[in-house]
Amino acid sequence: MKRPFLVSFLALSLLFPTLAFGQAAVKLTPAERKMADAITAGQISNYLHFIASDAMGGRDTPSQGLDVTAEFIKMNLEKWGFKPAGDNGTFFQKIALARESLDPEKTTLEIGGQSFKFGDDFFRVGGTGTASGPVVFGKDGWMVRSKGIDAFSGIDVAGKVVVLSSPTFSPRTTIPRPSGVTDDDLKGEVGVDWASPIDYAKKKGAVAVIVIAPPQLQGMWQQLMNFLGRGSTYPEKLRETPTGSGPNPPTFLVSEKVGNAIFAGESGDKTSAAAFETKKTAKLSAETKKETLWTQNVVALWEGSDPVLKSEMVAIGAHYDHVGTNPNARGDDKIWNGADDDGSGTVAVLAIAEALGKAKARTKRSILFVWHCGEEKGLWGSEYFNKFPTVDIKKVIAQLNIDMIGRSKPAGDTDPKDKELSGPNMIYVIGKDMMSSTLGNLVSGVNSGYLKLDYDTRYDDPKDPNRFFFRSDHFNYAQNGIPVTFWFDGVHVDYHQPGDTADKIDYQKMEKVTRTIFLTLLALSDLKTRPVVDKTLPPELTRQ
Ligand SMILES: [Zn+2]
Repeated sequence: MKRPFLVSFLALSLLFPTLAFGQAAVKLTPAERKMADAITAGQISNYLHFIASDAMGGRDTPSQGLDVTAEFIKMNLEKWGFKPAGDNGTFFQKIALARESLDPEKTTLEIGGQSFKFGDDFFRVGGTGTASGPVVFGKDGWMVRSKGIDAFSGIDVAGKVVVLSSPTFSPRTTIPRPSGVTDDDLKGEVGVDWASPIDYAKKKGAVAVIVIAPPQLQGMWQQLMNFLGRGSTYPEKLRETPTGSGPNPPTFLVSEKVGNAIFAGESGDKTSAAAFETKKTAKLSAETKKETLWTQNVVALWEGSDPVLKSEMVAIGAHYDHVGTNPNARGDDKIWNGADDDGSGTVAVLAIAEALGKAKARTKRSILFVWHCGEEKGLWGSEYFNKFPTVDIKKVIAQLNIDMIGRSKPAGDTDPKDKELSGPNMIYVIGKDMMSSTLGNLVSGVNSGYLKLDYDTRYDDPKDPNRFFFRSDHFNYAQNGIPVTFWFDGVHVDYHQPGDTADKIDYQKMEKVTRTIFLTLLALSDLKTRPVVDKTLPPELTRQ
């Protein structure tokens, strides 16, 4: 489960649980139940203690611990008779990562002859090279034609350094859209009908952009260092600059101190109602070094037996990465083991593969297994797989995503951080009814016909402020038109902490949930016709 960027800005509101229960039970055969019995707490515990051990170093993307985990999954898949479905007959879909490291010595800012210090006074948020020019203040930088909004009205920003400011922050556009601007206002052509601030400045020919950090960000300067201080790593193919997008001028986020220096002795400041030209000039330089690193998704196929249906696939997946090691962590424990997140999903999917492989059970449809990398970095593995699939992705009839199913709230636990943690017989189920009634009924029906776990669907509300629907790999399948279901145990005290370790997992619960998901997979793979997508995702769930 991915942590939302700057999670503290998300408003919290009361949630109302709705228990989905009593859907017509799906009848399960004794043979199917027997196969599910092969999934055991002991087996899950063995695998999880291995992949969540300190030796794996928290499975960061990319890292050696992640690669070893991938080899472990692959070794087992080979042993159990799975077909490789990654690149060129292998179990791996290789992903090239560009690591762009910033040279702090060569990343400089000078305004009106005064020099500022990288890290203390400013960060680079994008762009490279050296640029200098007169400084102009461009308000919040937004242009929305239908509302008559043009932040640069009255000034010419071409060849200049544009300073932008806003009292609040948006993770998507840096500066939030002006009040009163709706989604409909932002539907036309970018750059003509509307433009977000940094894009608008570039479009108008600015040579550099300076964003004065709003108070929320000023208060998080140290945390910002982790995001912006060391440059960035990203999947090369997911961030290709669109052709014709032109140069990429340096863009810096600056402190209040720099903001004050910009407006010292000027006729206006960052609260001015109109854009204006200052008397100062500025010079910005940013230098980066780029190298290529590699990581991978692990992809396998369990071939179906039906001559027609075997061309279709039911996908099941988890993310096998976590957030790694932090040598600067405060306590003694520097390793984020990620036993629940998402070691639990990783080994649940592995145990499901083992149950199929050892029973040599041939499902009608094929089963596609994908262990995604880079989920914690921003759902990289699943985005990559959906954009550059190694199989015919249109033949995937549904995707089942397991991300955190190992923890349960013990009786008498009053820790407020465990407030939303599910109990030993309960699990949150997200998204099953969002796109396909058939899928929704089947997921509930299998549970009703089997262990009758408490399937809690409270997070299925499109307005859920936690936005869990956006925060794991199923999201990218759903955006690709594939109906999904996501199993999740809830946020807890060890969520994204070094204490998310294998000894704290409720293996009995994991056994029950994993067996239920396994039988859901079997039921889906043998459906007469693929689940019809009869609902469109609510707009709240398609926009990041
Ligand atoms: Zn996570």
